[in-house]
Amino acid sequence: MRRILLVVFLIFAEALLAFGQTEADSLKQVIAQSEGSEQIDALNRLAALLLQDRPARAREYASQALELAQKEKYRKAVAQAWLHIGDSYFYEEKYDSATGFYEDALKLYRQINDPDGIATSLYYLAVNYDYNKDRALAAGYYLQAAQKYDSLHQVRTLSDIYYSLGMIYDTGGDNYKALDYYQKSLAITDSLDLPQESAATLNTIGTLFYDWGNFKEALSYYKKSLKIMRQGNNLEGIAQTLNNIGILYYDWGNLDEALKFYKESLQIEEQRGNEAGMSSSYNNIGIIYADQKKYDQALDYYNRSLEIERKHNDKSGIATSLNNLGELYSETGQPLRAIGMLEQSLTLEKEIGDALGIAIAFNTLSALHLKNGNINKSLRYNDSSLAIANRLSNPETIMDAYKNYTDAYEVMDKPGLALHYQKRYAALKDSLFSENMHKEIARLQASYELDKKQKEIELLNSRNRLHQLDLENKRIIVRRQRVIMYITIVGFVAVLIVSIILFRLMFQKRKAYALLNEQNREILRNRNELIRARDKAEESDRLKSIFLANMSHELRTPLNGILGFTEILRSEVKDPAHREMADVINTSGNRLLETLNSIIDLSIIESNKMELNAVQISLDDLINERVTLYKIAASKKNLYLNTDIPEKGIVFLSDAKILRNLLNNLIDNAIKYTRTGGIDVGAAIDYATDPPAMEFRVSDTGIGIPQEQVKFIFEKFRQVSEGHNREYEGAGLGLTICKKYLELLNGSLQVESRPGEGSTFIARFPVALARENMPRQDAKEKQKDNIRFRGKKPRVLVVENEETNLRYIEYNLKNFCQVDAAMDGPEAIRQVSEKQYDAILMDINLGATMNGMTAAQHIRQVPGYSSIPIAAVTANAMKGQKEEFLAGGCTHYLSKPFTTAQIRDLVKEMLNGRS
Ligand code: ADP
Repeated sequence: MRRILLVVFLIFAEALLAFGQTEADSLKQVIAQSEGSEQIDALNRLAALLLQDRPARAREYASQALELAQKEKYRKAVAQAWLHIGDSYFYEEKYDSATGFYEDALKLYRQINDPDGIATSLYYLAVNYDYNKDRALAAGYYLQAAQKYDSLHQVRTLSDIYYSLGMIYDTGGDNYKALDYYQKSLAITDSLDLPQESAATLNTIGTLFYDWGNFKEALSYYKKSLKIMRQGNNLEGIAQTLNNIGILYYDWGNLDEALKFYKESLQIEEQRGNEAGMSSSYNNIGIIYADQKKYDQALDYYNRSLEIERKHNDKSGIATSLNNLGELYSETGQPLRAIGMLEQSLTLEKEIGDALGIAIAFNTLSALHLKNGNINKSLRYNDSSLAIANRLSNPETIMDAYKNYTDAYEVMDKPGLALHYQKRYAALKDSLFSENMHKEIARLQASYELDKKQKEIELLNSRNRLHQLDLENKRIIVRRQRVIMYITIVGFVAVLIVSIILFRLMFQKRKAYALLNEQNREILRNRNELIRARDKAEESDRLKSIFLANMSHELRTPLNGILGFTEILRSEVKDPAHREMADVINTSGNRLLETLNSIIDLSIIESNKMELNAVQISLDDLINERVTLYKIAASKKNLYLNTDIPEKGIVFLSDAKILRNLLNNLIDNAIKYTRTGGIDVGAAIDYATDPPAMEFRVSDTGIGIPQEQVKFIFEKFRQVSEGHNREYEGAGLGLTICKKYLELLNGSLQVESRPGEGSTFIARFPVALARENMPRQDAKEKQKDNIRFRGKKPRVLVVENEETNLRYIEYNLKNFCQVDAAMDGPEAIRQVSEKQYDAILMDINLGATMNGMTAAQHIRQVPGYSSIPIAAVTANAMKGQKEEFLAGGCTHYLSKPFTTAQIRDLVKEMLNGRS
C-alpha cells in the first residue's frame, strides 16, 4: 500500500516539476519572441515563478523587466519588478535590502493609484519588518495593509494579517491586543468556513492563555481546536495540540493526565513518521517517568530520543537528551555516569554556543564533582558557571553557584566562606523568591485581570445579547404598536368615513324626509284642492246635469204642448189665414226643439257624458239611409243629392248614432247653403294608414266660405254671416258638434271651400274593419236564408241592454226569425216564463241588475228551458272565458264584434241543432 502511494506521489511530483519546467520554458520563449509590455510581463512572471527556489535568478529576470519597463514607461510593471526584487532579497533573508524595493514599489503603486498593488506592498513590507524583528514597524504596516484589504474586501489575507498582528502583540507581551487580533482572525476564518485555519488560531489562543497562566481557559481553547482538527483529520495539528495539553497538565501538576496526552501525541507522531515530534514526546514522557521515579522507563524514553537526535545529528537535541540522562544518573546515584553524560552535553553546548546551557552544565558538573570528592574540579566548574550566569544575569544559575560554593567550603571546613556564600545564596533566594512572588502576583494579577476582562466581555456580550433581545422586543413592540396604530388609524378613518357617510345619509334622509314631508303636505294640499275642485266640479256637473235634465224636461214639456196642439189646430182650423198661423207656430216650435237638442247634445259632449258605443255598421246602409232622409228637402230646393261609395259591402266598427248625427249636420248645411246644383255624399276607406281611416265627403255647389272665415265656423255660435245682416238661420252649433264628435272618434273635420263655387267637408276617423267576414252571398245561400222552419219563423230571444246592438242583431235576423228583445236579466226571465223560445242570445254584461250568466242559470230552471240552446254573445273574449260560459249553462259562444254572417250562422246552428 505504502509503495503504491509512493509511486503515485512520485508521478505527481514529476508532473508538477514538468509543469513548472514547461511554464518557465514557455515564458522564456515568450520573452525571446516578444517585445514591449508582453515581454516585460513574461519576465516578471518568470521572476515570480523562480522567487522561492532561486531568488538570485529571479532577481535577474525582475531586473531585466524593471529596465525594459522603465524604458517603456510601463509603470505597473516597474512596481511589480521592484516587488519581485524585494521578494528575492526577502527569501535570501536580506530583509534590509528588501525594504527599499518594497518601499519604491509602494510609492509607485500609490502614484498610479493601484489599490491592489498598494495593499500587497504594505503587506510585504509588514512581513519583511516582522521577520526582521522590527515589530513596531511591522505592526504599523500590518495595520495599514489591513485597512486596504478590508476596503478591497479581501478578507482571507485580512485574516492572515490579523493573525500576524496577534503574534506581534503576543510576543510583545500585550496579551489583550494579541487576543483581540487572534479573535478577529478567527471570526474571518469562521465566516469563510476555513475550519483548520480557525483550529490553528484557537490553538494559538490556548497557548496565549497558557503563557498567561490561565490554564483553564487555555485548556478550553486547546480542546476546541482539537475537536476541529480531529474532524478534519489534521494529524500534525492533533499531535501538536495533544502535546500542548500534555505540557499544560504537567505544569498543572497532573502527571497522569499529562502522560496520557503525551502518549497519544506520540502515537500520532509515530503514525505520521515525524521523528522530531517523536523525539520531543520521548523526552517529555521520560521527564514524567523520572518525576514519578520510574527511572527505567525514563531512561528508556531518554535513550529513544537520544537515538533519534543522534540519527539526525541535531546537536541541540543531543545535548538536551544527554542533559536529561545526566540528571537521571545523578538522581539514581551514578555520579560518574552522570558526569560522563553532562561532559558530553557541555561539549555540544559549547559547539552550539548556548551560554545558558553551558552555565547550567558547569553548575551541574560542579555539584557532581563535589559529591564525587573532587573539590578543586567542583570549584573550577562553579567559577565558570557563576561567571557565565553573572554575564547572563541569570539569578537561578547564580543562586545554584552560591549553593555549590557553600557546600564546597563546608566540605573544605572553611565556615567563614561557607557562611558568606550561604548569606548571598539566602539573600538572592529571598530576592528571587520575592521577585518570583512578584512575578507570580503579577501573573495572578494578569490572570485575574484577564478573567475579569473575559467576564466583562462575557457580561458585555450577554448585555449585548440582552440589549439585542431588548431591541428586538422593542422592535416587536414598536412594530406591534405601529400595527396597532395603523389599525387604529385605519379603523378611525373607516369609522370617520362611515360616520361621514352615515351623517350624509342621515342628512340626506332628513332632507329627503323634509322634502317628502313638504311634498306630502303639498300633495295633501293639492289633493285637498283637487278633492275640493273635484267635489266642486262634481257638484257643478251634478247641478249642470240637473239643470240640463230640468231644462230639457221644462222646455220639452211646453214644446210638446205647443207642437201637439198646433198639430191639432192645423187639422181643425178651416180658415187659411189661421191655418198658416198654426203652421208658423209649428215650424217655429220645431226649430226651437232642434236648437234645444243641439244645445243638449253639445252639453252632453262637453260634460264628457257622451259614451262611445261601437257597433258594426254597414257603410252602404248608413249613407243610403241619410241620403234617403234628406232626398225630400233637397228636391224641394231643386238640388240633386247623390251618393258615391266606390267599395260596396264595407262593414266597420264605430258609433252609429254619432255618425248619423254627423252626416245629418253636414248634409243639412250643404242643402241650406246651396241654391243651385246639388250635393254629393261620398264615403271611402283609406287603407294607407294603420288602422285604416274612414273618409266621408259632403260636397256642395253652394255659396262657399271665404278663407278668412274658415277658422271661425267650427267655433260655438259662429257663422259666416253674423249680426243684423244674417242671411241664413241657425244657431251656429252644428259644425262645433261635428268637430267634437270627430274628436271623440280620434278623427278630424276639415273643409275645402271656394266662395261662389261650393264647399267640401271631409270627416276622417280610424275604423276597425270587418269586411273579410262578409262573404258575398250567392243566390243559393240567399234561398237558404229564406227557408222557413216548420212553416213558421222560429222564436229567438235577444238579451241585450245596448239598444244599437239589439237593433243590429234584429236587423240581421229579422228575415228568418221572430226576434224578441229583453234589456236585462229579470226581463229575460219574465219573458221566457211567458213564451217558449227556440234559441236565446245572451249578452253577459247586462248592467247593474243581473249578469248574463246568472240570468242563463235562472232560465235553465224555467220549465221547457233545460235544453234550449243559449249562446253567450259577449265582448268578454279573454282567454278561458269561453270555457267558463260553456261550463256555466251556455251551449254556444260568439264574441263581439261579429259580422252579419257570424251571427246568422250561429243562430242557424242553434236552431238546426234544436230541430
Ligand atoms: P249654422 O248652420 O246653424 O249657422 P253651423 O255650425 O252648422 O251653424 O255652421 C256654421 C257656419 O258655417 C254657417 O253659419 C255657415 O256660415 C257656414 N257653413 C256651414 N256649412 C256651409 C256650407 N255647406 N256652405 C257654406 N257655408 C257653410
